[in-house]
Amino acid sequence: MCGILGIIGSQNVTHDLYNGLMAIQHRGQDSAGIVTFDETFKLKKGIGLVKDVFLENNFENSSLNKLTGNMGLAHVRYSTIGTPDELNAQPFTVSYPFGLAMVHNGNLTNFVNLKDILYKENHRLVSSSCDLELILYVFASELEKIDLNNLNFEQLVEVVTKTQKRISGAYSTLTMIANNGLLAFTDPHGIRPMVMGEKIDDNGSISYAFASESTCFDYLGYKLIKDLAPGEIIYIERKEDKLFIHSNINKNDKNNKKEQYFCIFEYIYFAREDSIIHGLNVAKVRESIGKLLATRLKSEIANKNISPDIIIEVPSSAFYFAWGLSKALSIEYAKGFAKNNFIGRSFIKPTPAGRKNTIKQKLNPIKEIVRDKNILVVDDSLVRGNTSKHIISILKEAGAKEIYFVSAAPPIKHPCVYGIDMSTKTELLAATLDENQIAKLIGADKVYFQSIDQLINMCEMRLKVNCCYACFNGKYPTHVDDRIFADVSNERHLSQGNYEYECRK
Ligand code: SF4
Repeated sequence: MCGILGIIGSQNVTHDLYNGLMAIQHRGQDSAGIVTFDETFKLKKGIGLVKDVFLENNFENSSLNKLTGNMGLAHVRYSTIGTPDELNAQPFTVSYPFGLAMVHNGNLTNFVNLKDILYKENHRLVSSSCDLELILYVFASELEKIDLNNLNFEQLVEVVTKTQKRISGAYSTLTMIANNGLLAFTDPHGIRPMVMGEKIDDNGSISYAFASESTCFDYLGYKLIKDLAPGEIIYIERKEDKLFIHSNINKNDKNNKKEQYFCIFEYIYFAREDSIIHGLNVAKVRESIGKLLATRLKSEIANKNISPDIIIEVPSSAFYFAWGLSKALSIEYAKGFAKNNFIGRSFIKPTPAGRKNTIKQKLNPIKEIVRDKNILVVDDSLVRGNTSKHIISILKEAGAKEIYFVSAAPPIKHPCVYGIDMSTKTELLAATLDENQIAKLIGADKVYFQSIDQLINMCEMRLKVNCCYACFNGKYPTHVDDRIFADVSNERHLSQGNYEYECRK
């Protein structure tokens, strides 16, 4: 999972790119990068958080001042393929057949094949282990085949369509074409998000932006125009200082919505709660998903299998689920943890005690709230169980009586091959264990998962798009086979290299 942003206008876009990137920092903390175009590409990228890469403790002398131009791209990276080092940080650029700069969010599933093909057919040696490099090379090699003297949108559609046929998986990409414009395209199933916005300045000049999430636009004063449709290609062409929008999708064409398999995990976990995705606010969708959990829990309470006194969440993404559940069950919601927002991503400590300490530094139970209580603890999902286990342990140490652990997501039984950090089946607890076995393993008195059927029913009724639920039900929207599972899983292990990051769940 990554965050992308692209802006084209008449003024310098650098500070808007920086501020927009800060708003989507939650989508990736491994590296950050910005490229602008001002006769040449001006590129800066590095390892770490956005402010660490660009401000270097001093706004006045920041490297941002060296990035100039009225179009640019920005990226934050969470590595699921490729190591989290500078070599794999985005954006990437090439100088043929035009100057091209590209960012993406997603994962290719045929990256191993593509590497071979690019080497054999185009003599391209891929230098990074980031699949964006492959997309860029495929796109550039298709662009090389056309007459470039008078590049137009029809030619670009042909190039992108051929690129889309050669690359498989999930991707939202933004490309700057030097001296020409800004191009956005998504995979044919629209698995990863991308929104488009527009801003008209006081002097009447217009700018366009594309981003992974609409929350960027709120900060930058852009109006959200649309979510890109599956396979959509939008090109903002600059001609004699004017901007022209081209799209391959007719506004009234509703058929392509059927092709969509939008990642449901954007609503469940990744997107920020203030974002609007496909017309719906993420916080509101989470509250509805939380309410769904009540159906089963009501009967568990009625049958006296559990007797919760309060509902708390695992901060902070699970708040709206807990809030919705609290309303539906009429059980008091309480804030059970104090969270230290200044502790970033932490390395796994070699011992269980060390791991527990790390979690305790981030999340400290409020004893006066949890002591002597039976608690429904709500989290967005339960993937590997590491964090849940320690959370339950520190709650019990703080005096909690019984703990019922509730996952707002259904059991994750299948790996994600589309860029979400659960690409190895063996690490997924629910792939082999049932609720009772998981409860025993993580030390909870009970564990409850969201019902997959209820979730799908609700989404089909409320959401305006079809969603991907493959990690729950194994129905992948693109071709997958054992080879692909093995490749994606291997890359994930390699990407972790010597870095033993804290397993998030
Ligand atoms: Fe999202 Fe799961 Fe589909 Fe991956 S498999 S894209 S996490 S819904």
